[in-house]
Amino acid sequence: MQQYKTEVPFFKNFVDGGDDDLVIEDEELIGKCAISKRPIQQAARTTCKHIFDYNSLVQFYEQKFGKKQDKKELGCPQPGCQAIFKKADIKKDLAYQRKLDQARRDGEISD
Ligand SMILES: [Zn+2]
Repeated sequence: MQQYKTEVPFFKNFVDGGDDDLVIEDEELIGKCAISKRPIQQAARTTCKHIFDYNSLVQFYEQKFGKKQDKKELGCPQPGCQAIFKKADIKKDLAYQRKLDQARRDGEISD
């Protein structure tokens, strides 16, 4: 069985290194909005592709510039992100929301 010794770790790496659908750096934050720290109810993303709860993101912007402004630039609320976005850039991400809902149903993440 000696000849298999090197193959086992390689295979294990291959399995463990599989791509995850949800690209999230911190497991604590899976499905949570970095602004409100609450579960994302309606996923929305900025141009830098960070995901937030839609209402929290809009509120975050409106607190800074008011409801009528949508062209001024604001820094992404994701800690460590240097990107800027405008209110007009905020897009609901229905595909992400579906994955999130599915993961919640499957018990992969909790609220
Ligand atoms: Zn960002």
